[in-house]
This record gives sequence, structure tokens and C-alpha cells, in this order.
Amino acid sequence: MRLGRIEEGQRRIRLECEIQCISCSKRVPGGIVVADGFDKTDEFHRMLEDLRETYLCGICRDAKRIEEAERAGRTTGDA
Ligand SMILES: [Zn+2]
Repeated sequence: MRLGRIEEGQRRIRLECEIQCISCSKRVPGGIVVADGFDKTDEFHRMLEDLRETYLCGICRDAKRIEEAERAGRTTGDA
């Protein structure tokens, strides 16, 4: 997964970060790809913290989307 901005032609590096889905604890496969040097910035650390607190894997994200759509359908009644 990519984190932050990576400019065209910029060197990128792969980081082995422990990120897990907050719902099912599945690990992110393949680590995180960032622009070379971005991993040394405060912005990167903030984004990584954010990700750790909010990350959902594809399956859980889909489940959540369906759940939210259903909830929206119930409240508006025109789903
Ligand atoms: Zn999950």
C-alpha cells in the first residue's frame, strides 16, 4: 500500500510496517511504499499513526460500506 505523495520518477522504498485491520486483525500484505525520505518526516509518522487506528482491510471495508448503505436505506426509506 502506498502512503503519502510519490512524485513521478521519484525513488520509492518499501517499509515493513505492522499494520493490521482494526476489525479482523488481518495484516496488510506487502508493507508500505513511500517516497524515499518521506519515512523520515513528521507527516509520515502522523499518517502511520492514523492508519494504525483506522485501517480496514478490503473485506471489512466492503462489509462496512454495505452496512452503512443499509442503514442509510432504513433511515431514508428509499433504498
Ligand atoms: Zn478486516
